[in-house]
This record gives sequence, C-alpha cells and structure tokens, in this order.
Amino acid sequence: MLVVMKTDATPSQIDAVVKVITELGFRGHPLPGAQRTAIGITGNQGAVEATRFENMPGVAEVIRVTKPYKLITLDLRPEKTIVRVGEATIGGDELAIIAGPCAVESREQTFAIAETVKLSGARFFRGGAFKPRTSPYSFQGLGEEALRILAEVREKFGLRIVTEALDETGVDLVERYADMVQIGARNMQNFSLLRRAGKSHLPVLLKRGLAATLEEWLLAAEYIMSEGNYNVVLCERGVRTFVQHTRNTLDLAAVPAVQRISHLPVIVDPSHGTGKSHLVSPLTRAAVAVGADGLIVEVHNQPELALSDSAQSLTLPQYLQLIEQARSIRSVVHSDTHVMA
Ligand code: PEP
Ligand code: MN
Repeated sequence: MLVVMKTDATPSQIDAVVKVITELGFRGHPLPGAQRTAIGITGNQGAVEATRFENMPGVAEVIRVTKPYKLITLDLRPEKTIVRVGEATIGGDELAIIAGPCAVESREQTFAIAETVKLSGARFFRGGAFKPRTSPYSFQGLGEEALRILAEVREKFGLRIVTEALDETGVDLVERYADMVQIGARNMQNFSLLRRAGKSHLPVLLKRGLAATLEEWLLAAEYIMSEGNYNVVLCERGVRTFVQHTRNTLDLAAVPAVQRISHLPVIVDPSHGTGKSHLVSPLTRAAVAVGADGLIVEVHNQPELALSDSAQSLTLPQYLQLIEQARSIRSVVHSDTHVMA
C-alpha cells in the first residue's frame, strides 16, 4: 500500500502517517518527489486498511499495490531517482561514467588507469578488491590492500570509488574505504548481503544476476530499499544464453523495460555484457542510444597482462575515444527525449 500525500503536506503530517504505520507494526518509507511525497508500507502480510489513513491531515489518496514490488516503482516516485555520490550523480542529466580495471593489481597499475579515467571526465573509478572468480585458483583480488590503494586514488584524483563486496564483512570494509558498494551478478540473490547493503549509508550498484528475470532483479533492489537504503542503481551486465560469440548476452531492452516500471537509475556494463574488447564500443554506443543512465567499463593500461578479464578490457586510448563517442550520442538522445516529452 502507498499513502500519497498532498502537494502541500507538511513534514509533521508525513511523520504522523509514518508513526501510525510504525504503531501497526509495519515500516513506512517516505520517498519525497518533485511534486509530492508518497509513503510505501512494508512488513505487512495482508492488506492494510486504507481507511486508517484516508482521513489523516495531508493525505491525498491511498493506493493498493497489486505488484510484487512497492518501493522501486514509479507509483511511489513518479520521477527518476538521482543517486548522489558527493557532487557526482547517477540518473540525472549527466551520463554517469564508472570506469577502471576489473581488479586492483598494484598501486602503479591502478594509478596509471585512474589518470586516464580522470582525464576522460568520468566521476567514478571502479576497481575490484574482492573478485568473485569462477575458479578458486584464479586471482581473487588484493583485498584490503586494494581498498587502501582505491582510497589513495580518491584522494589524489577526486574520483568516487565503486567496489564490490562479496559478503557482509566485505560491506563493512567497503564502507570504510569507498563511496559506493557493488553487488555482483553472482550475489544478486544473496539475500543476507542485500539486507546488509540495505543498512549501509553507501549507495548500491546492483548488477543483474546471470539468469535473473526483470522481476527477480527488481525484487533484489526491493530487498535493499526495504531496509531503508533508497540509493540503488541497477546495472544490466548481460545474461547467460545459448550464444557462443559473446560471454553474455547484453539485454539492452532491459533498460527501457526497467525505466517503464521503476524510478531507479539503470546503467549498462558492456564489458561483462560482451566479454570481448572489440564489442565493447559498439554495445556502449547502443546502450547510450537506448537511454542508459550511465556506463561501467573495464579499462587497463596493459590489457594483455591483466590478472582478470583481460579479453574485455579496453586500452587507455580505446577508452578515451569511447567516452567521447558515448557523450556525443548522449547529447542527441537527451535533446530528442526532451523534445518528445
Ligand atoms: C565485475 O564487475 O568485475 C564482475 C565480476 O561483474 P559481474 O558481477 O557482473 O560478473
Ligand atoms: Mn571484471
């Protein structure tokens, strides 16, 4: 159930509604929008009586939710969420660029890449400290040492740091050193991790699972939001299909499909979505054209020597050229959608 407040509802009227929800044993989630605040109710098993709220001061209407999700929907917040990470945003006017190596391998490697990422005008640097590798014998990441290197990158270049947590203790560490926590494809339905991320003060980058439907992916975001963290960014990174010419099949239709249902920003990962560096640029251009709010791209100063995801890593010059192309496509898409709207 959603309690939609009037445009001129006061903060104390909103608080009063949340208080009733709490006293009923449920949780109220007030999400302020441009026009009005709506309050999502979670924790209830059956229907909550609408009449309890309808006559309260400041309440415009009470809407029954028939879909499985409550907090990710445009019903709750009809305009897009802009996730703010310091001065950087995801979901706003600017195309958000998150770039960096698959894994932090050394201080020298990380700094060399960060310099180019900074030069490109990107605001986010992504490097893995804990890597979810298919084989236990593959490079697993440098752990906390990598987080310290990432914190230095933030200090030196002013880039916001995004990095993956594989488990709950990983979130504790990421919170200490970084600006945004990534939940990887393999963990999209790790519900205790999702709940932990939902209690974090950091925004969450939630990748789509390898075989997740749109609904499962959105419900994973719902897990995070239901714990009170509303700063969630969805990331389409390809799903497992029968094809053999790419590592995954990048489902670009997911971008407008998500945007039709949810206010959350959705970005695209063309690196894991293709697995091959020569496919990264064309799919990035398509992702921007289809309306993605941002990109997450793997780039390396020496891709041939990368300790993980070598085949899909762009070189520094390839990366710089790609970002330029992505920006020019974005400006066309943006002026067009403004005209259409
Ligand atoms: C990664 O971002 O390096 C990664 C492992 O991604 P995914 O979880 O999408 O496979
Ligand atoms: Mn990778």
